[in-house]
Amino acid sequence: MSGAGALLAAIYFFSQHTDQMPLDGQGGTMIIDTHTHVWSFPSYRDLSQHIKTTEDLIAFRTRYPDLYKCSLIEPSIDNSDDLIGDMDKNGVALTLVQARPGYTTNDQVAQSVARHPDRLAGLMRVGHDQEAAGYHDDPGPTREWAPGEVERCLTTLKMKGVGEIFIRSITNEIHSERIAKDLDGMMKVVAKHGAPIQFPTAWSQFPGGLFYGDPLWVDEVAMRHPTVPIILTKMGRSIGRYFDSAMTVAMRNVNVYFDVVGTNPQHLRFAIDKLGAHRIMFGTDWSATWRWISVPTTLHKLRLKVLDDANLTEEERRLILWDNAVKVFKLDQEAARARSVFSKAAE
Ligand SMILES: [Zn+2]
Repeated sequence: MSGAGALLAAIYFFSQHTDQMPLDGQGGTMIIDTHTHVWSFPSYRDLSQHIKTTEDLIAFRTRYPDLYKCSLIEPSIDNSDDLIGDMDKNGVALTLVQARPGYTTNDQVAQSVARHPDRLAGLMRVGHDQEAAGYHDDPGPTREWAPGEVERCLTTLKMKGVGEIFIRSITNEIHSERIAKDLDGMMKVVAKHGAPIQFPTAWSQFPGGLFYGDPLWVDEVAMRHPTVPIILTKMGRSIGRYFDSAMTVAMRNVNVYFDVVGTNPQHLRFAIDKLGAHRIMFGTDWSATWRWISVPTTLHKLRLKVLDDANLTEEERRLILWDNAVKVFKLDQEAARARSVFSKAAE
């Protein structure tokens, strides 16, 4: 979106939403999105006819196998301008970006952040190539490589934490203590930096690894690394059995957090009442595929509606939409800068 376009979008947003939405203390409504994936592929430039609903998204890989394969053979392209456009339309001042599944690198994510330093901050990932292309039989080499890559990304690339780790790329154990042991090398580096890490829950649109979507095993990891904020992304994705596991782990471990991607108002309300709103963060899962959702509404509006329908208090909204992300990801500088840039655009 052009500068003038962003300005108009921001003015429109504020004129529509300032009354209902939480204020940032300076009279502006502000959102931090903690969960998105950047970079895309030439063939994914316009999927508006292929993906309209969440159900289309889930079936995309098997309904259009040739189109899906383009994500494994085409060179990736930076789509962060499109993300900024959607942020401007929806009152999102700052977004944490991580790599799209496939052969997208942490260095490419750092490039996107460098192009939009006032609006984006980066998370690193490992194993997301296998998430899209299929897991290697032997997770050993990726497990050995992960700690060094975490160190490099949190220092040299100045990333703010570790994005979604699809666990099967690091381990093929199915006993929770052995899973935790296999994650120890990576977790020690994360702990050393005081950085948070995301583990996905429930299903994904990608092949294999579904076993690890039931987060009961995370209890062992949270216990071994009590200083690491562990974010269970999607908090069970509205599915009862995964939500029950996520809640059980979170109630036992104060270092476990949720993001709201794909949850429903009932689960969100229950989690706030049992854990407190300070343990939950906003996210959209915006990506090369998710961004095309248009029915019943756009992706950002779909995620925000869950907060509306869960009857959040103003304080709960502020915590979930802004404060918790600043605290957990240590975004004080980034948040202050994004807030000032976004406020100016709306003036
Ligand atoms: Zn995601």
